[in-house]
Amino acid sequence: MQLILMGAPGAGKGTQAAELVKKFGIPQISTGDMFRAAVKEGTELGKKAAECMKSGALVPDEVTIGIVKERLSKEDCAKGFILDGFPRTVEQADALEKILSELGKSLTQVLNIHVPEEDLVERAVGRRICKNCGSTYHVKFNPSKIENICDNCGGELYQRADDNAETMKNRLSVYEKSTRPLIEYYKKAGKYTEIDGRQPIDKVTEDLVKVLSSV
Ligand code: ADP
Ligand code: ADP
Ligand code: ZN
Repeated sequence: MQLILMGAPGAGKGTQAAELVKKFGIPQISTGDMFRAAVKEGTELGKKAAECMKSGALVPDEVTIGIVKERLSKEDCAKGFILDGFPRTVEQADALEKILSELGKSLTQVLNIHVPEEDLVERAVGRRICKNCGSTYHVKFNPSKIENICDNCGGELYQRADDNAETMKNRLSVYEKSTRPLIEYYKKAGKYTEIDGRQPIDKVTEDLVKVLSSV
């Protein structure tokens, strides 16, 4: 199963990808997570990504496409994968088609988690992530049992540097300009489904699984 989870920043892609990983046993490929790991490690890739991420701009297509191509050719992707946060531009979508055809694969479904813009800033600003295992929480909508401590592993929670109202404004305008056109792109390809992302987390998962059981 080759899936794309689409949605604006804060729509719930990462949260849902984690559920789908558990249900279907295929890996989540998050370009955002890959860039954050590279920044933390201080690699060349991290240096290239850091400035863009800080302002909420996109990392250049050639850099992003390169890391996805490498990742999708790994053994654990043989039975499928869940792309979370990629593609974000038409150029990336075209490159993905090419990568998939080289691997002898095709897209199974594009799932767009739709959340109205007015909810997205609150979601991002309240997001907290476990330093240790990457689990995602929300201070109001999905709080950990003990404040700032991960339910899964006891790790400390942190807030992403770009999860502030100012950077979110930029990320949302980048989404409108560069990523929203992908909705038409995938609608035309006939593999597109929209899910109502305003529902509680478990209900969104239910809807996603329902769609996937019929494709
Ligand atoms: P994305 O990967 O699309 O940026 P996340 O999955 O990280 O989004 O979710 C953004 C924030 O919103 C997180 O704090 C998460 O806990 C919260 N969240 C995710 N899904 C929902 C939902 N259905 N209702 C309310 N809050 C949610
Ligand atoms: P969110 O979950 O809020 O949508 P991500 O973790 O997916 O955010 O992305 C964080 C940042 O990483 C983006 O603002 C951008 O700078 C960079 N990034 C992630 N994915 C891509 C991509 N496919 N193309 C370009 N830049 C990306
Ligand atoms: Zn944890």
